[in-house]
Amino acid sequence: MKESLTTQIDKLKICLENKSNIVITVHRNPDGDAIGSSLGLYNYLKSFHNNVNIIVPNAYPQDLHFLDGDDTVINFDTHTELSTRIINEADILFVLDYNDITRTEDMAPILKDSKAVKVLIDHHPNPVLEADIAISDTSVSSTCELVYEACSRMDYHNMLPKSSANALYLGIMTDTGNFRHNCNNPRTFEIVARLLEAGAEKDMITGQIFESYTKNRMGLMGYCLNDGMTVLDEHNTAYIVINREAINKFNFKKGDAEGFVNIPLSIKNVYFSAIFIEFEQYIKISFRSRGQFAVNKFSNSYFNGGGHRNAAGGKSNSSLTDTLNKFLEKVKEHSDEIYY
Ligand code: 5GP
Ligand code: MN
Repeated sequence: MKESLTTQIDKLKICLENKSNIVITVHRNPDGDAIGSSLGLYNYLKSFHNNVNIIVPNAYPQDLHFLDGDDTVINFDTHTELSTRIINEADILFVLDYNDITRTEDMAPILKDSKAVKVLIDHHPNPVLEADIAISDTSVSSTCELVYEACSRMDYHNMLPKSSANALYLGIMTDTGNFRHNCNNPRTFEIVARLLEAGAEKDMITGQIFESYTKNRMGLMGYCLNDGMTVLDEHNTAYIVINREAINKFNFKKGDAEGFVNIPLSIKNVYFSAIFIEFEQYIKISFRSRGQFAVNKFSNSYFNGGGHRNAAGGKSNSSLTDTLNKFLEKVKEHSDEIYY
């Protein structure tokens, strides 16, 4: 582990011994790494600390609701008053899997006002938040890896609780697309080995995420593979559109398109992929690439978003047609950067 990280983790240990009200927060639309890292940390801290709460900005997909402690997670959207009071009383505020308070949207003003010690644990580039303690490293697969490093170095137990191991395994598995990308460092697999030793239930977690599709979700995937997909051979790019009609036809539920943005990257010579989901209020966009093309820059420049070099998100408030036209125009402009 990098020297600077070990120093930060040592600072965190001292901080945890002197403070009492701990609040863990994640970004809006929490994914497997956000939920896994927060419950991994929560279940660890709960074994020696009484007052720990997780507050998420909004709801998350049904298939992520299976970890120990999930029933204690507080949703800011639906429990705004309670969440606000808990944040106001916090003396340690964890910022997990994001590094810019604005990514919590409506929750951001309350977090900004907080006087708590701010502890960032994250693997996204260019942190915006000025944290008191920053465990931030873009070279790791996931925030869950960093939570593992922090918990194991703080050394309160010989072994992580099984509940934490399950949660951290979930985040590493989902952020690497089931150990497909972003995990070339052997350390990721060393951590996974330690999680399995601590009792992580690999098959159960794999089943929850990859073997629990509804028929509608599978139908939507079929649509994405056929009618929903366009391949732009000359730009090594492919994109999927889920329009209102498809949303209705397949009774779209939050999380139903999770991971589908990766599908076009299985096509030979496709190095850039995107998915556009036409929600009622806005169009949610995800970008993925293989190789050189920096989709976080692309998203940030044209679609109000950001993320990692090979995985980013964004949104558009224009119509679907205008959004797609802008996308096509920008793909043409950047065509010579899209290669492996
Ligand atoms: P997804 O496509 O799964 O929504 O997001 C892919 C990656 O980009 C995730 O690491 C996510 O945290 C990040 N991301 C998604 N949306 C945004 C955004 O609006 N702003 C920033 N900075 N990052 C985002
Ligand atoms: Mn992550």
